[in-house]
Amino acid sequence: MFKKIDHIGIAVKNLEEALQFYEEILGLKSTKIEIVEDQKIKVALLPLGESKLELIQAIDPDSPIAKFIEVRGEGIQHIALRVNNIEKKLKSLDEKGVRLIDRVPRYGAGGARIAFLHPKSTFNVLLELCEKEE
Ligand code: ZN
Repeated sequence: MFKKIDHIGIAVKNLEEALQFYEEILGLKSTKIEIVEDQKIKVALLPLGESKLELIQAIDPDSPIAKFIEVRGEGIQHIALRVNNIEKKLKSLDEKGVRLIDRVPRYGAGGARIAFLHPKSTFNVLLELCEKEE
């Protein structure tokens, strides 16, 4: 069961510069900057109502975010959908023939368990499933 849009992931070249815009100009408030070693990124989450914006900067040229920016430039990189039971959801999507990038959830920012679906199956939108204790 999908619950809500958990966050929208935005790839940026420079997190501090992006935060200046989102915080000082737009007036959103960021949580502390977090490094996610597994994906070679640093992340700031900006809560906004039921959802968040997730600003993401690569900390290594091998990061998927660095590659994304190289090919497509800065901008919306993924949409994260909150689910109750990520294993069950992955299994059911797999059974329906959806291509999965992650068959097993991994840890993302804020201690969430996340898994990506392949854009080939989702009309070229990188969808993240995300499960988190509130
Ligand atoms: Zn995300």
